[in-house]
This record gives sequence, structure tokens and C-alpha cells, in this order.
Amino acid sequence: MSVLNPVAVAPLPTGEFAISWSDGLEQFLPMEKLRQACPCALCNGEPDVMGRGDAPVRNYKPGSFELKGYEFVGGYALLFRWVDGHASGIYSYNLLRGL
Ligand SMILES: [Zn+2]
Repeated sequence: MSVLNPVAVAPLPTGEFAISWSDGLEQFLPMEKLRQACPCALCNGEPDVMGRGDAPVRNYKPGSFELKGYEFVGGYALLFRWVDGHASGIYSYNLLRGL
């Protein structure tokens, strides 16, 4: 298990999401990069019921790169809510740290 945890997170007026990690690292992630890294099935072309693994469907709209809110999930991840309504991406701490 990773012992790295965010000790503080905050969306910044500069359009970045700041994460202060328990080891002292401060990370500043542009919202666009954050959204493009969305790990959910919708954004990553999960095979459909016919077994076809189609290319990822990523239709970005106005608001796709605007953060509406976020919440911690189970002590291991963050869920981001976007202004365009997308809110199915659960970003593990390991994923965030690797961005
Ligand atoms: Zn997604």
C-alpha cells in the first residue's frame, strides 16, 4: 500500500488543481490535463456488449475543463465533477501522482 496521501488539495484561480502530498511534494495539475487523464470506462473505450473495443469517445464540450467539485473516495482516490456533467472518473492517488 502506498503511504502517500494528499494533505491538502485546492482548485486554483489559475486553472490548476493543487495537491500537497504527505512527502512534501506540491503538484500543480492543469485542469485540461486532469480531465484528459480521466480513467473512467467512458473516456477509455471499454468494450461494448458486442465485444467491440471501440476507440475512446471523448467529446469535450464547453465546461469539460472546468472543475465543478471534487470529493475524496475511500481514502485512496479523488473523484472530480466537471461543469459539463461528467463525474465518473475516480482518480487513485497513484494515478494523480504519476501525472
Ligand atoms: Zn471519464
